[in-house]
Amino acid sequence: MKITLLHNTPLQVCAHAIRTCWQSFEKSDSGGEKDRELIDRVGNKFKHASTLEHLVYTFYIQGISRAVLQELARHRMASLSVKSTRYTLKELKEEAPFSITDIKRVKKYIVLTDNPSVNEMSIKALENLRQLLVQGVANDKAKYALPECYKTELTWTINARSLQNFLSLRSDKAALWEINDLAHAIYKSLPEDHRYLFHIKT
Ligand SMILES: Cc1cc2nc3c(=O)[nH]c(=O)nc-3n(C[C@H](O)[C@H](O)[C@H](O)COP(=O)(O)OP(=O)(O)OC[C@H]3O[C@@H](n4cnc5c(N)ncnc54)[C@H](O)[C@@H]3O)c2cc1C
Repeated sequence: MKITLLHNTPLQVCAHAIRTCWQSFEKSDSGGEKDRELIDRVGNKFKHASTLEHLVYTFYIQGISRAVLQELARHRMASLSVKSTRYTLKELKEEAPFSITDIKRVKKYIVLTDNPSVNEMSIKALENLRQLLVQGVANDKAKYALPECYKTELTWTINARSLQNFLSLRSDKAALWEINDLAHAIYKSLPEDHRYLFHIKT
């Protein structure tokens, strides 16, 4: 998977929102140590967590499985724009048949696991899908034969409050391994001066 942070709100915007409550703008140090401490104290320690909603992050997430996409989509406090299989499945039509030894080639389309038997069946499912498309079956019908390992990508926008919830739930050992990997990769892609607001389980 590949995570690219496309955009994030500067810390001083959140500090400004907090300072609006007490009209203490003159105490701001433009996103420096004072503002950082204020955001943590009010947003996290005082649990005035709605102030954290002023910090928004947009990520470009590539190469996750559709299995993980459906788990990610359960996080309702976020916005998703996802690659459409209806419009893009034709990408498989030009491919030569896939065989179970084609590991490098299939990785462009499916997420493999550490279990060779699962991978073998996933590659067969990919080849079945390719055959349907070559036979001329429309994307709208062929997509019903998609395996959950099929790769997708999305642009994901989430605020800091919801991201805290996501990272806490999905960096936990109880989470599915791939979304656990995603949570760690998202955390790593955050700007360094924002990471102190988030806790990740290792
Ligand atoms: C280990 C694990 C296993 C899971 N297994 C399953 C499973 O087997 N089946 C399944 O269906 N799901 C499962 N889930 C998904 C889980 O139930 C949540 O849908 C998902 O984690 C999103 O969490 P969330 O609702 O806190 O996030 P969001 O939807 O982003 O919501 C954020 C927060 O907003 C508030 N909120 C949002 N909507 C409402 C609302 N309607 N009413 C009140 N407060 C609201 C809550 O405080 C919530 O924590 C699993 C999750 C984990 C981490």
